[in-house]
Amino acid sequence: MSDAPGSYDVIIIGSGAGGGTLAYALRNSGARILLIERGDFLPQEPENWDEAAVIGQRRYQADEVWFDADTGRGFRPGVYYFVGGCTKMYGAAFPRFRREDFLALEHEEGVSPAWPITYEDLEPYYAEAERIYLVHGQAGEDPTEPPRSLPYPFPALPHEPYMADLAERLRSQGFHPFALPIGVDWREGGRCIRCFTCDGFPCKLLAKGDADVCCVRPALASPSVQLMARTLARRLLTDATGRRVAGVEVERDGVRSVLRAGIYVVSCGAVNSAVLLLRSANDAHPNGLANSSGQVGRNYMAHINSTLIAVDPSRENGDTFHKTLAVNDFYLPGAHSKYPMGNLQIMGKIQASGYIAAGRPHLSLDERRRMARHSSDWWIMSEDLPDPENRVTLGSDGSIRVRRKFKNEAAHHRLVHAAEEMLRAVGYREFIHQLMPIETNSHQCGTLRFGDDPATSVLDPFCKAWDLDNLYVVDASFFPSSAAMNPCLTIAAQALRVAAHLAGSR
Ligand SMILES: Cc1cc2nc3c(=O)[nH]c(=O)nc-3n(C[C@H](O)[C@H](O)[C@H](O)COP(=O)(O)OP(=O)(O)OC[C@H]3O[C@@H](n4cnc5c(N)ncnc54)[C@H](O)[C@@H]3O)c2cc1C
Ligand code: SF4
Repeated sequence: MSDAPGSYDVIIIGSGAGGGTLAYALRNSGARILLIERGDFLPQEPENWDEAAVIGQRRYQADEVWFDADTGRGFRPGVYYFVGGCTKMYGAAFPRFRREDFLALEHEEGVSPAWPITYEDLEPYYAEAERIYLVHGQAGEDPTEPPRSLPYPFPALPHEPYMADLAERLRSQGFHPFALPIGVDWREGGRCIRCFTCDGFPCKLLAKGDADVCCVRPALASPSVQLMARTLARRLLTDATGRRVAGVEVERDGVRSVLRAGIYVVSCGAVNSAVLLLRSANDAHPNGLANSSGQVGRNYMAHINSTLIAVDPSRENGDTFHKTLAVNDFYLPGAHSKYPMGNLQIMGKIQASGYIAAGRPHLSLDERRRMARHSSDWWIMSEDLPDPENRVTLGSDGSIRVRRKFKNEAAHHRLVHAAEEMLRAVGYREFIHQLMPIETNSHQCGTLRFGDDPATSVLDPFCKAWDLDNLYVVDASFFPSSAAMNPCLTIAAQALRVAAHLAGSR
């Protein structure tokens, strides 16, 4: 990390899970770091926990339109432009990927490719990321769990009564429910009050383990880290050789300028990072920066997700913080299926509006409220297999186009069915499930895959672009496969691994 032609050693573009974690990890490295972020700090205000404002009016969601490349339909993507990126709104579920997720794994509709690194390569960084993001968990409950070098930094959040009872009933049927690892400040004297509005809401108390609170703010305490918020990176410029990034053109308050550093790290989220590289096409890189393989924008994935609302009229759910339980009995090939199907996890408590209203529009509000009081609500997540035709491209007018055709949908439907059967066995009688559409891109990844071969990947195993000597990418776009677990911990762990690599090369 030397050879800086500008005022900075490292410019990081995007302050979410990838970029924020990298800035934190490099804060004491001696490198002069500039973090560029298109959004501002998310305000602490009453609306943070107001369902009508957050879900009804989509107060914090980016106000922009992307296009479905197959149909031409415009849609408002589920992305959030703030310091901390999408982690400001996330559910803070922090599972590690399983050891098998790093290996080639046969699925019903194809093979999930091997990563160029193993679980063991990432394990120490998983442990560090869990500490940084205040992860609370309990090892030893889930048979698919990979080995750990350290215990969880904090004990699991205890289930509230309804969830504790559900876990017992699932166990009695031979399932292995486990404490979903969650990153919140539930330490002794911590700020978290275990409220109702966590998953999908910003935390009014700054108690959620997000990239803003856990990484960016602590990084800014270092004199060598600066943040330039409300600053959009428009394109990257290369030098005459085409081998090095020479600057980033930014726009702030309508004014454009070029900022320079020795090393550039793109971390804008999987779609926007691909878009930035495509928009940076020049004579040396006519198809977009770092795109000699033709892979930039390809293999876009976002998990195949459904919500499942399961109603047991005989039990009232009086819990407040629900998201403490998950089930991986269908995750790997085994007794239930020849092929992997995915993960089941409780999500933030749904209300009478939203998913219930969409699934049962004919019911009165009172009936929907009764369902919500008697339900457990699940996020059902299957691996989205990479497909080069699922890709991010630019329209002729520069608009963002996303092509997404599910690849592994049959396994997902079988998982929804298996979840219903599991829940029927413990007393649930009515189910509403809904497949998430293209706009639910919260787990977006792929688009700039890392690998061992420059012909088939964009990034090397340390996330440096094969085609450029000083360009790195540390957001979810490096994933060559999506696994079927929440992505954030893996993004953060790889950012820490890249930071160690950069610090070592100083
Ligand atoms: C509602 C919701 C719930 C979720 N729940 C979970 C969960 O429980 N567990 C989990 O693991 N994951 C969860 N996720 C997903 C998780 O938030 C993302 O996987 C993660 O934040 C992705 O990290 P990233 O670094 O790739 O992108 P982001 O965190 O989105 O960061 C990208 C950053 O780049 C900025 N940016 C974009 N373009 C530019 C540009 N041109 N110039 C300057 N800045 C730019 C953005 O403003 C943003 O701050 C959830 C997401 C959502 C939306
Ligand atoms: S549960 Fe805790 S971390 Fe989540 S929003 Fe409420 S107070 Fe914040």
